[in-house]
Amino acid sequence: FESLAHEARIAARSLMDAAAGTLDPTLRLGVTGLSRAGKTVFLTALVQALTRGGRLPAFRAYAEGRIASAALAPQPDDAVPRFEVESHLAALTGPDRRWPEGTRRISELRVVVDFESRSGFLSRQKPGRRLTLDIVDYPGEWLLDLALLSQDFRTWSRKTLAASEGRTRAPIAAAWRAHLATLDPSAPEDEMAARTAAELFRAYLIAGRSERVALSTLPPGRFLMPGDLDGSPALTFAPLDVPAEGDAPAGSLWAMMERRYESYLAHVVKPFFRDHFARLDRQIVLVDALAALNAGPEAVADLETALTDVLSAFRHGRNSWITSLFRPKVDRLLFAATKADHLHHTSHDRLEAILRRLVGRAIERAEFGGAAVDVVALAAVRATREASARQGREELPVIVGVPEKGESSNGQIFDGEEEIAVFPGDLPADPEVALRADGYRGRAQSEDGGDLRFIKFRPPRLAPERGVVHLPHIRLDRTMEFLIGDALI
Ligand code: GDP
Repeated sequence: FESLAHEARIAARSLMDAAAGTLDPTLRLGVTGLSRAGKTVFLTALVQALTRGGRLPAFRAYAEGRIASAALAPQPDDAVPRFEVESHLAALTGPDRRWPEGTRRISELRVVVDFESRSGFLSRQKPGRRLTLDIVDYPGEWLLDLALLSQDFRTWSRKTLAASEGRTRAPIAAAWRAHLATLDPSAPEDEMAARTAAELFRAYLIAGRSERVALSTLPPGRFLMPGDLDGSPALTFAPLDVPAEGDAPAGSLWAMMERRYESYLAHVVKPFFRDHFARLDRQIVLVDALAALNAGPEAVADLETALTDVLSAFRHGRNSWITSLFRPKVDRLLFAATKADHLHHTSHDRLEAILRRLVGRAIERAEFGGAAVDVVALAAVRATREASARQGREELPVIVGVPEKGESSNGQIFDGEEEIAVFPGDLPADPEVALRADGYRGRAQSEDGGDLRFIKFRPPRLAPERGVVHLPHIRLDRTMEFLIGDALI
């Protein structure tokens, strides 16, 4: 009944939206991606471009001069924190220009866009219309928890244990596995043992997200991105080596872990999908594909698994009980490879092709048939410029930027002020080649051949034009057109 009532509420809301939408459209846009994918930078740049304009030829309503104004407005949901776009922008464009703090929890922002409809504009009637855009930023780790809803504690434990034996995972899972080997699931429940297991398990998941390992599929999401649950007992559980058959003995460690796992699903995962995810109309999923390519084939394979999971969350087609419970109404879904400014522009289409190939397989597997799905390679804030440099007799394309202060992976020291030229990773033209175990050799290098795969550039130095800072970008305008362009005609 609860779910029926919820369905009815959603239907009523869609009807009201549809009625209002005949004149004034309302859209809820979700922004997600794993930590460091670039959500905060993207959303800051998106809001700045919407409200202050810039070089946006592919964002048609703006390019055609039909946007009268776009401004922030109070958000509709009082219980959700606000996305603090002003402080993020100040960090990016202030005197010591630095990247803002990344997303750690859900947040929201409303932008109201007054525009002239295309027909009115052409016939000079100019009827003013208004798009209300609610943007919701949330950790992609939470989205991957959807897969847990169809797994009981036993299934999840066994899957998680099996995965931790992989070549990349085994070394980082060793400490947790060693502790696990000392636990008897049928022994009496023991809070200290549960806590230690949860801490070691979490440390394993966190190690899996490190730059060198760059795995993507590491649920439960709140272990990595706890949001408001940081330090909460709701997260004091971990997988156990439980037998394939039989029930947990009453009062056992097993029964305790099982109970906590179930309550995580009931009180954390389900409410998120019901209250936030099911209400989205549009979704952009940001992907740091370069980080996975740089870390190696296992990271790429894991990214593909994660993308498959993400896509199945948006699947319309045949309804499983999960989708009937949290049926998303997303009709446009965009996968975006971020930080394309780490590549020369000749590789941007190649990066898109690689992402398309990773998502493409997922589309096949998920029998995805509902929404329009597309991919893009973008840089929300372009931190580099292009140049060419001589290497031996060859003239080669390079990117130039200011590396963040500190030591690079190959021991080079950067002062955070001086520009350097980087030979960017040259992506193979054929995505199949890029995804093969030995396929991707185009790693970023310094002029002396040093490994600069994990280099980070500082945000660009910017001068305001007539009081407004326009952030340089790559394909942000195309992204905006796909996500909201159709609501502005
Ligand atoms: P979040 O965790 O998904 O919110 O990720 P952030 O938006 O905080 O981005 C993580 C980091 O990626 C930033 O601190 C930057 O170092 C880098 N980054 C994000 N977007 C861009 C971009 O467009 N260009 C470049 N060069 N770096 C970016």
